[in-house]
Amino acid sequence: MERDNPLAPEALGPTVTVGEILVEIMATTIGNGFLAPQALVGPFPSGAPAIFIDQVAQMGGSCGIVAAVGDDDFGRLNLDRLKADGVDVTAVTVSADKPTGSAFVRYRPDGSRDFVYNIKHSAAGEVTMTEAAKALFSRAGNVHVMGSAFAISGLWSILSEAVSIVKARGGSVSFDPNLRKEIMQGAEARKRLDAMLSITDLLLPSGEELLVAADAVDEGEAVERLLAKGVREIVLKRGDEGSTHYSKVFGRVDCPAFTVEEVDPTGAGDCFGAAYLTSRRAGLSPARSLLYANAAGARTVTKQGPMEGVSSKVELDRFIAAAGRETEA
Ligand code: ATP
Ligand code: MG
Repeated sequence: MERDNPLAPEALGPTVTVGEILVEIMATTIGNGFLAPQALVGPFPSGAPAIFIDQVAQMGGSCGIVAAVGDDDFGRLNLDRLKADGVDVTAVTVSADKPTGSAFVRYRPDGSRDFVYNIKHSAAGEVTMTEAAKALFSRAGNVHVMGSAFAISGLWSILSEAVSIVKARGGSVSFDPNLRKEIMQGAEARKRLDAMLSITDLLLPSGEELLVAADAVDEGEAVERLLAKGVREIVLKRGDEGSTHYSKVFGRVDCPAFTVEEVDPTGAGDCFGAAYLTSRRAGLSPARSLLYANAAGARTVTKQGPMEGVSSKVELDRFIAAAGRETEA
């Protein structure tokens, strides 16, 4: 008989993630790229793992991040924010000679984005398994893996070790594949993806990522394959169409999206995943966790700046009540 909840309870220890901490600097006008001088706004704290872990903290979950920043203001502004929100940053290394990673972003008229990144050759490209990181994993209850880790050399070995440490103490693994086509090129990436899937308790794909992860042609087939492989819960993110939970225990559970005006979609998936995971680790049902996750994702897209849309539990409760949906599940 399977446990109803594959995620380790909050009491086992913090949710820990690994990956890039960045600043984001955004163009203030819509257009193509950065080939001419233009008005910018930023720096904003960013990096998918950082956004994710900040949202876990805002929901009241204990949490920490393994990462690296430069000895500069871009690093300090991130550390100040994470610390203030309650994230354990004892395993964030401050590099002596590399700057904090950065991403310049501009929206095109069709809604797609142009980026100029400095990640690989920044402090973010230098994350290593330090003593502080080992100490954090040794008391963690859940490791959250982000697909971006597949692209940064070194992260993969840290994650493999982290997952073994945490699984050995009865912890769980959540995985947001965040697959970019460029990342998935090559047999090595596929091997890593499959290895990660084989020990994933909660998978958080969005759109096509579900099909890529399962190597399937439709949603039903993909879900069946992944659950057969041992993934315990799949939560599919559907943008402005909400989300769906799939598991052997609860079957299919749909949750419609909240109606909001989208200002900046960056971070929606990360805040969604954080709210879902933290709710499940706190013992809430899949339906109730989806409601919090949809609320967190919806609130994120109404705010400009990647980490500016994170929500506290109280804000989510108010938002859900204002939409007249507090009685759900
Ligand atoms: P990201 O761009 O951060 O990678 P994602 O593709 O992983 O995002 P999305 O499906 O875009 O994830 O968003 C996650 C969740 O946020 C959705 O399932 C939904 O609940 C909520 N959400 C996203 N966009 C909207 C929107 N326009 N209106 C209402 N809710 C939204
Ligand atoms: Mg995503």
